Amino acid sequence: MSAICIENVSKSYGGKVKAVRDVTFSVEEGEVFGLVGPDGAGKSTLFNILTTLLLPDSGNIKMLGMDVIDDYKAVRQIIGYLPGTFSLYPDLSVQENLDFFAVMYKSSIAENMSIIEPIWKQISPFKDRKAGKLSGGMKQKLALCCALIHCPKVLFLDEPTTGVDPVSRKEFWDILKSIRKHGITVVVSTPYMDEATRCDRIAMIQEGKIIGINTPATFIENFKGKLYTFKSEDIFSLLNAMESCPLDCNYYPYGEHCHIAFYDDIATALPQFEKFLSDNNLQHDEIRAIAPSVEDCFIEIVQRDFSH
Ligand code: ADP
Ligand code: MG
Repeated sequence: MSAICIENVSKSYGGKVKAVRDVTFSVEEGEVFGLVGPDGAGKSTLFNILTTLLLPDSGNIKMLGMDVIDDYKAVRQIIGYLPGTFSLYPDLSVQENLDFFAVMYKSSIAENMSIIEPIWKQISPFKDRKAGKLSGGMKQKLALCCALIHCPKVLFLDEPTTGVDPVSRKEFWDILKSIRKHGITVVVSTPYMDEATRCDRIAMIQEGKIIGINTPATFIENFKGKLYTFKSEDIFSLLNAMESCPLDCNYYPYGEHCHIAFYDDIATALPQFEKFLSDNNLQHDEIRAIAPSVEDCFIEIVQRDFSH
């Protein structure tokens, strides 16, 4: 049985902003499922619907066989939710926050130590510190611990690592890996495409629509272009010049590099592109073939409309 079945779910705000558009997908039991998309894509709206906090305009959702609207009380018992905004009590200590959530859920820290242990090890040295005084990464680890205190069957994490430093981000994902050992289904949203590769499967979301669902490896295998990278000191002139590039290609800045995907025969496209750069006096270093990342796949699907 799938842990979550979402069918034709839509939601608009004030009839105007279509935040979620006809979304259909399933999440299997025990998988770490990523919802990946930029700001405003509709991730939080979908999370709030899945966690029974917001009613959809239309569509059906089943969570472990239960209807998310009709059986919302029962659904709330089996889910954990780490919302996108800081959800703890800043004036309570780490220990007090945990105790509070444990009492609320009629659970105890001791009862669930086997699940929360990897997190507890990292946060217990700060157990007397006020939650509001923790670092960003530590706050999120505490919030995760609180969301796990009643041993949920499905855990929702809305952008848990946004604004968290890279080291804590990695630690957070290592913790998620250990949580899945307990058979907990994890649905996690992120705007960081590099994190997407740590999920079993990902749904890419853009403007409320799901534009692709697959394993990260399959997204990468399905990349249609021939991808190349190079560096240029002159990214802005390059960006302008590319508007008149006659080749069928997709060019975009990528960190401090430029990425270009060619959709013509590469044997002729590459020399033509090099000539185009020199005709336009655009300096560059060696143009190298590279394997696409999940981010390249997202950009290709959005820009070339390969979503259907
Ligand atoms: P994400 O979490 O991916 O950033 P959201 O679900 O927060 O996306 O937002 C999706 C769209 O819905 C955006 O255009 C956002 O401005 C709009 N939106 C979100 N919440 C509200 C709200 N309460 N009222 C009106 N519009 C909203
Ligand atoms: Mg959000």
